[in-house]
Amino acid sequence: MNLPGLKTRGLLCFLLLSFSAAAQKAGRIHNKAVLIDGHNDVTSASIVEGRDITQSQPDRHTDLIRWKKGGLDVQFFSVFTGPVARNPKGVYADANDQIDSLEALVRRHPRQMMLAGSYKEIKKGINEKKLVALIGVEGGHMIEDNLDKLDALQKRGMRYLTLTWNNSNSWATSALDETLHADTLKHKGLTDFGRSVVRRLNQLGVLVDLSHTGEQTFYDAIAASTKPVILSHSSVYNLCPVFRNVKDDQIRAVAKNGGVVCINFYSGFISRKFDEKLTSFSEPAKKHFVDSVSRQTGDSLRALRQWNTYTKKELEAVRPTISDVVDHIDYIVKLVGDDYVGIGSDYDGIGSVPIGLEDVSTYPNITLELLKRGYTKRSIRKILGGNILRVIRASF
Ligand SMILES: [Zn+2]
Repeated sequence: MNLPGLKTRGLLCFLLLSFSAAAQKAGRIHNKAVLIDGHNDVTSASIVEGRDITQSQPDRHTDLIRWKKGGLDVQFFSVFTGPVARNPKGVYADANDQIDSLEALVRRHPRQMMLAGSYKEIKKGINEKKLVALIGVEGGHMIEDNLDKLDALQKRGMRYLTLTWNNSNSWATSALDETLHADTLKHKGLTDFGRSVVRRLNQLGVLVDLSHTGEQTFYDAIAASTKPVILSHSSVYNLCPVFRNVKDDQIRAVAKNGGVVCINFYSGFISRKFDEKLTSFSEPAKKHFVDSVSRQTGDSLRALRQWNTYTKKELEAVRPTISDVVDHIDYIVKLVGDDYVGIGSDYDGIGSVPIGLEDVSTYPNITLELLKRGYTKRSIRKILGGNILRVIRASF
């Protein structure tokens, strides 16, 4: 008889049992909680292509089957177009095209999905176990400097407007431009028209989304807003210092305003190591590698393939984990309390996701990790959706 062996097996059994008990408890908490995701790009990534996301989409992060598996109740669908319009009529037409596509999808699947315009409708949809869709317009350029177009988008269901995307517009400057192109900016922050946009959003009950905005725009907008703001998909600068993340003072300002910061899952916004590795693979580094290998082998295509394999492998080695994502949640809770943080995955808008958060079926892993760290059921419910719901309730 091997006593130490028995002991080891006993300990292993005990650990497995306690793990499965924790997983069961996490499952129960997760299923009862209202889970809201502040940002998903499946509209511009799949729905405008006519893909039916109620069917499996294995090459993407998102479809309804996996959403249900992940326990998601409410999704902000991003309506997104870059500074160059897809529709010859312009970016406002792009926004309307995307809303058309989303509406058509919901019309085809009325038992599975619904578009909600108010807190009451959201609650109704959750009770009916439908996926509740809300529209978030990602980029103030889509109103084309016209408050009538803002009003029209609100009538079509816009429930947040991200004041800028990476591109600034004539009335608000972006994080990218304030950080990297500061010397070329004609103005910084919000103009008077920008302040009137914020006032109009407040009046109409549309959330002011400050993800992607520069710090000056952030502070100008939060000062102008009479309602709680949202950062629909941004993470913590102090853990991963990139231009898209928010600094401690910004997090404190959101807490003071009663708003919410929804954590973005993108590996490059979660992990400093990942971002540094990615930065080291800049265009000049790529050119240098491909040129020197091509000179030796005479085969530039092979050199490019070698570069892609090499960078992929190197990045995979520093891909963050779910624990790193929960570190961002934890950071905000420790800084300002558990009322001001939520989830804004950015699925189908990001090129790399952390290990354990591969697609929309994996949200329960967050609950399990929070539970393992000693979070109470009450705190977990706030983080998963309660906090965003509070901000929604204050506006629409
Ligand atoms: Zn974005």
